[in-house]
Amino acid sequence: MLDLVIHGGTVVTPSGVGQFDIGIQGEKIVLVAARDAIFDEFQTSVDATGKYVFPGGIEPHTHIATSVSEAWAGRPGVMTQSPEAASRAAAHGGVTTYIDFAGGMEGTEERHQSDNSIMKRLDARRRVFAGHSYTDFAFHFTLAGEVPTSTVEEIGEAIESGVSSFKVFTTFGSKVPYGHLWAIFEAVGINGGIMAVHAEDDDMVKYMEAKLIREGRDQGYNLHLAHNNVSEDISFRKIIRLSEHTETGIYFVHTTAKEGAFAIADARNNQLPVYGETLHNYLHFTHEHYREPEGTAIHTYPAIKHASDRHELQEALINGTLSTTATDEYTTYKDVKLSGNTIETVCGGHNGIETRLPVVYAKFVSTGRISIEHFANITSTNAAKILGMYPQKGAIATGSDADMVLFDPDMKKTITLDGLHADSDYSIWEGFECQGYPVTTILRGKIIVENGKLKGNPTDGNWLARKVAPAILASPAC
Ligand SMILES: [Zn+2]
Repeated sequence: MLDLVIHGGTVVTPSGVGQFDIGIQGEKIVLVAARDAIFDEFQTSVDATGKYVFPGGIEPHTHIATSVSEAWAGRPGVMTQSPEAASRAAAHGGVTTYIDFAGGMEGTEERHQSDNSIMKRLDARRRVFAGHSYTDFAFHFTLAGEVPTSTVEEIGEAIESGVSSFKVFTTFGSKVPYGHLWAIFEAVGINGGIMAVHAEDDDMVKYMEAKLIREGRDQGYNLHLAHNNVSEDISFRKIIRLSEHTETGIYFVHTTAKEGAFAIADARNNQLPVYGETLHNYLHFTHEHYREPEGTAIHTYPAIKHASDRHELQEALINGTLSTTATDEYTTYKDVKLSGNTIETVCGGHNGIETRLPVVYAKFVSTGRISIEHFANITSTNAAKILGMYPQKGAIATGSDADMVLFDPDMKKTITLDGLHADSDYSIWEGFECQGYPVTTILRGKIIVENGKLKGNPTDGNWLARKVAPAILASPAC
């Protein structure tokens, strides 16, 4: 007896796209069969006729329930939206798993509630999300500043416990000096983890900030001059050199510039295990949009660059140089997002977790630039592989978690704030015309959104242990 059968859909599986029916028992997929070839009895069925069935979206980069700096928010005590709100928006957008962050330097709750050991901070962060998430979740662990040797020595235990990715910044207050990065990369590499790197050249960014201030050009619309192309080029290549010396896999978060994409392409041509992410706002806007009224609402650090960069990021996603799309989800209300208006104070991030799949679909699949298999790869499967969740997540296959999204390719929908589900009062996607939209989302066999209606509970989501496959860390594998 099956619990759930999904029938009639066009299903994207690891072995190709086809007219398959899917049998689910409990939380797992137990059958992927030819159309009408499931003869078992079942409790419930979902009609997917005319729909694509994709593996549930994986959002590899979110900042949920994190404190917003006073410099950005204009006042103390502001947090990004709660796990309930963010995961509700995620579920409506066809996302079944997101990866947020634990650790770091900012005044997060877990920092105050516990000592500084990685395991204690992970536990504290898990408590913020457990029982409060409609979808599954995991954490990159952020190592910040001059990370002590005693913390580096805890990395192996953290990887053993299922935290396989470590985030570092090469700029901002949480910048890790290169010597410390060397030690961290070595520890992560030896223990089979992967580095998630926010790479910018701090010297260049700071120099340009000072220069722009001196010249009276520090308006927010010049963010791309502070967080600039040359900085991305230099910093990506330094990180790649360090990864080569330490034999450590790299996941570059938010690639923004053609120079970043080219650095990743060069590394991959040299067979280094280097992977790149970009964000859906970088694929759509350019820095020219910063000049529009409320234009910096589109901003996510490092910065949105030129039309030529947008073009090369799109090409890199199409040709496989970049592996994933993400959002850098960082949801606040509009007064916070627009509080700062200089190159040093514009708030990063936006409420993007719900809009990524339909925006990427409209820009790449509807226009015939990529296949639906490729769409599944850049919205789910590749993130699962690189960050250690595959094939439990990111695959519609026997034995995988029954996470999937039914996507209606014929649905035309103009994004409006009213149609979104985050705790926010603006959307940079207002007016964006989607061709195709996620309609039903299934998390481990449970329908959490059905035809656009929320059916799940904030207790449905589980923390997810991860482990990166050796093939991912040996050479570019997706
Ligand atoms: Zn981020």
